[in-house]
Amino acid sequence: MAFYGGERLREVYQQAQGEGYAFMANNIAETNILIGLLEGYAERRSDLIVQVSPGAAKFAGGGDKLAGLRSLSYQVRELGSHYQIGVFLNLDHFTVGEMDLIKEAIEDRLVSSIMIDASKKDFEENVHISRKVVDMAEGSGILIEAELGKIKGVEDEIASDEAFYTDPDEAVEFIERTGADLLAISVGTQHGVSKGRDVVLRTDIAKKIRDRLAESGHPVPLVLHGTSGLLVAQIEEIIRYGICKLNKDTRYQYEYARAAYDFYVAHASSIVPPQGTVDDSTGLFSESDWTPNKADFDPRAVGRAVQARVKEVAMELIDQAGSAGRTLGGN
Ligand SMILES: [Zn+2]
Repeated sequence: MAFYGGERLREVYQQAQGEGYAFMANNIAETNILIGLLEGYAERRSDLIVQVSPGAAKFAGGGDKLAGLRSLSYQVRELGSHYQIGVFLNLDHFTVGEMDLIKEAIEDRLVSSIMIDASKKDFEENVHISRKVVDMAEGSGILIEAELGKIKGVEDEIASDEAFYTDPDEAVEFIERTGADLLAISVGTQHGVSKGRDVVLRTDIAKKIRDRLAESGHPVPLVLHGTSGLLVAQIEEIIRYGICKLNKDTRYQYEYARAAYDFYVAHASSIVPPQGTVDDSTGLFSESDWTPNKADFDPRAVGRAVQARVKEVAMELIDQAGSAGRTLGGN
């Protein structure tokens, strides 16, 4: 059984923190990315953290978030059990509006960890909501990640710059009062498509947060969101300052689209009828001399191309994080 709960995940992060490497946390919404990830992580012998956002759960459940969450959790367990690595599932950016789902996820042990995101609320409200989820998870072994500081995103129009960085002193108070197991901090990255060369990465803030937390006796692993556009040197630098979990979503979305686009462009002539042919998909072109090629239009064909691309990218990102050869699976 390769799926593990939060107790093992805590060990995984502690070891990473102690030895100075990190794990990418990879978003999934469907099976092709999951299989590509499992293949890549198994080949690099790294434990794997996958995560599901509320939007991904809704998509996977045909509009029903709980159905989607159950379904993806089942897939992660079932498919993960075929690989000799540790596999963990995190809930990504769940909010106060999803408390029912959080409750179900804890009660039914659907996940290894949960991120409660109340970072858009004021400090006191954030503490209150995050603490509530920590209390809900008590005794379950499920780890709770909370966020302090605002991360700019594609939908967010936060114009100020300094205002969205995490305050190191607040970070200590926040962890002491919430009891959160992991802390997502804001040091200049953005959700969505960003250009690393334009990002002012405040590694000094990350270092200060790490040091203050260690001094206060709460050396919780730090998390960085919005890392898809960062340069390799930026990733390596930030890991040195105590970041143990780096969230990756946008990069896979892009690679998925590119792999599918490349595949369909390369096989266009066996999927799309030539000019002058009646476009008769209803009769599957039975009246015409041209026939589409089932080997190319079968969704499994493009799916395999997506899986292969994700596997490749996953291995590249494992090398950046330094998690190759780091697995509980063989133990
Ligand atoms: Zn995020």
